[in-house]
Amino acid sequence: MKLDVNALRYLSKDDFRVLTAVEMGMRNHEIVPAELVDRIAGLKHGGTYKVLRNLLKNKLVHHDATKYDGYRLTYLGYDFLAIKTLVNRGVFASVGRQIGVGKESDIFEVATEDGTVLAMKLHRLGRTSFRAVKSKRDYLQHRRSFNWLYLSRLAALKEFAFMKALGDHGFPVPTAVDCNRHCVIMSLVQGYPLVQVKELQNPDDVFDTILGLVVRLAEHGLIHCDFNEFNIMIDDEEKITMIDFPQMVSVSHRNAQMFFDRDIECIYKFFRKRFHLSSEKYVEQDGSDIDDDENGRPSFQSVQKSAGSLDKELAASGFTRKEQVEMDKYIHEKAEEESSDDDSTSDRDNSEDGDDVAGKINSLKIAEQDSAGAPDCTIEARDSNEPETFAE
Ligand code: ADP
Ligand code: MG
Repeated sequence: MKLDVNALRYLSKDDFRVLTAVEMGMRNHEIVPAELVDRIAGLKHGGTYKVLRNLLKNKLVHHDATKYDGYRLTYLGYDFLAIKTLVNRGVFASVGRQIGVGKESDIFEVATEDGTVLAMKLHRLGRTSFRAVKSKRDYLQHRRSFNWLYLSRLAALKEFAFMKALGDHGFPVPTAVDCNRHCVIMSLVQGYPLVQVKELQNPDDVFDTILGLVVRLAEHGLIHCDFNEFNIMIDDEEKITMIDFPQMVSVSHRNAQMFFDRDIECIYKFFRKRFHLSSEKYVEQDGSDIDDDENGRPSFQSVQKSAGSLDKELAASGFTRKEQVEMDKYIHEKAEEESSDDDSTSDRDNSEDGDDVAGKINSLKIAEQDSAGAPDCTIEARDSNEPETFAE
């Protein structure tokens, strides 16, 4: 499949100026009055209105005249702002095929000027319906209608910060390259999600390595919280890379024990079922026993004794405590709801922004392409001297 970003190539400097004006307006308007867009963009001779029509045609904005003549960004519009900014920064030069569709993300290959292929993760929090977000008790209700923009940006920021810190501490994670808005650029992991693997040469070793990662994370003060066969990549040499960090929490989180046990249980369950493995005893890779519970399973109490401070370092970086609390609440309440909701898998169809997602897939013209094909659609970095306030 190929992501055709041709529309981006043909968008003018004014198009981006107006698109950015809509984004700015969305800081305090769900639907940004056309007049305000015009004032922010500051184009001469009513140029803004003409540009808005073009953006609408390209599905980069959504028109809403229910209460007044107004516009809001679509996912596609937000994607293009992030992509444009990163291209201008020289982070990559082209966008290729889609390599992953998560529940709340889309992942594409991108390529740098010199042909290095990287992975681009576009966060889509709020894409799936979420009762709690819609309920009266909702902490985000005042901004629910445009929370996807806000939450997706926070998720990307958090993922980038965690990926970087984990990489710096020697964890097998993709290399964090850059981040803008809801978009994270990282190295491309060779291999496949573990869920796709039917057979392993050394299932015992892989199992120990994976379990060891959960333990080592906790020793550094962190719990992945979504540690399962979908978020573990494995290559032909059976080397493990873990991905997907927006939901990570500190070991001091009030539900830390439950999250830790759940991560461990996921791995046991998967290996029992898929590889018929029943590891009676967990032994660290250097051969020394670790302090396990009676079943030989790593226990939260034992790892907590040595818990490091990566969680504190991370809490101090990137975004504010309030932002972190808001996003963690969203992610974890949502996960709880999903696990207690049998119909959760159909949520995507009921998406609040469903028209945007469908529109995005259509308007981006994702076409069949040889899976080995490299990204081939070059985006020109036209207005790299745009003022930073407009590029960011
Ligand atoms: P989500 O949060 O939506 O679950 P993930 O980060 O787990 O998103 O990514 C979804 C899928 O995209 C993964 O299962 C994997 O197949 C692919 N993927 C994600 N990141 C990378 C990467 N850096 N390299 C290669 N494939 C990736
Ligand atoms: Mg995932």
